[in-house]
Amino acid sequence: MSHSLVIAIDGPAGTGKSSVARGLASALQAGYLDTGAMYRIVTLSVLRSGIDLADPAAIAAAVDGVELAVGHEPGEDISFLAGEDVSAEIRGDAVTKAVSAVSAVPEVRARLVDLQRELASAPGNVVVEGRDIGTVVLPDADVKIFLTASAEVRAQRRHDQNIARGLASDYEDVLADVRRRDHLDSTRAVSPLRAADDAVVVDTSDMSQDEVVAHLTELVEQKVGAPR
Ligand code: C5P
Repeated sequence: MSHSLVIAIDGPAGTGKSSVARGLASALQAGYLDTGAMYRIVTLSVLRSGIDLADPAAIAAAVDGVELAVGHEPGEDISFLAGEDVSAEIRGDAVTKAVSAVSAVPEVRARLVDLQRELASAPGNVVVEGRDIGTVVLPDADVKIFLTASAEVRAQRRHDQNIARGLASDYEDVLADVRRRDHLDSTRAVSPLRAADDAVVVDTSDMSQDEVVAHLTELVEQKVGAPR
């Protein structure tokens, strides 16, 4: 029986993780799962319901009712909330500021981790991108990659991305938000952001996106042979 290849890519905001994960999935002709988009969809639903972000019990009670769907192809950045295309809205400021609070709620993580495992187990190779994929969601992944970069480099990339998307952006605000989210994500009680013991850590500060994709493709080939 041929075994599908599962690749976990984790790391903090602004390491180029999404672009690199999509690039790697394309290079390997694999499916792609953006778990951050799933947390963002739940966050948008929480915001729209007017739930207090400081009330984890209310967030926990709401998560089961959230009807969400995300694209499975690397070229398909598409997210749905109850059938509505919210792909642009989940990248906006309101969701970005609120997502760490929502993703720290254990019931939110439990529901999304179940869904992520189910989606990742579909036939075929898959690249799964997030914060806790190698440590919690898919500890048996064939290859685990943890991307890092300095906070300044990550903020500059996020700022450039915002501008390219036509969103208002201020570098100092973005840098403060990167640091705030790093802190929240790495100190939360459930699934804190950290590299799995068996992950390959790649610092992307001085690498272009193409260089990172080429490096990771090589890493995958070294670890498991040519793509299956
Ligand atoms: O990757 P992205 O920046 O879109 O993720 C948004 C947020 O979702 C992160 O800051 C983090 O709080 C949360 N997240 C998470 N676990 C994941 C993916 C994202 O907690 N696997």
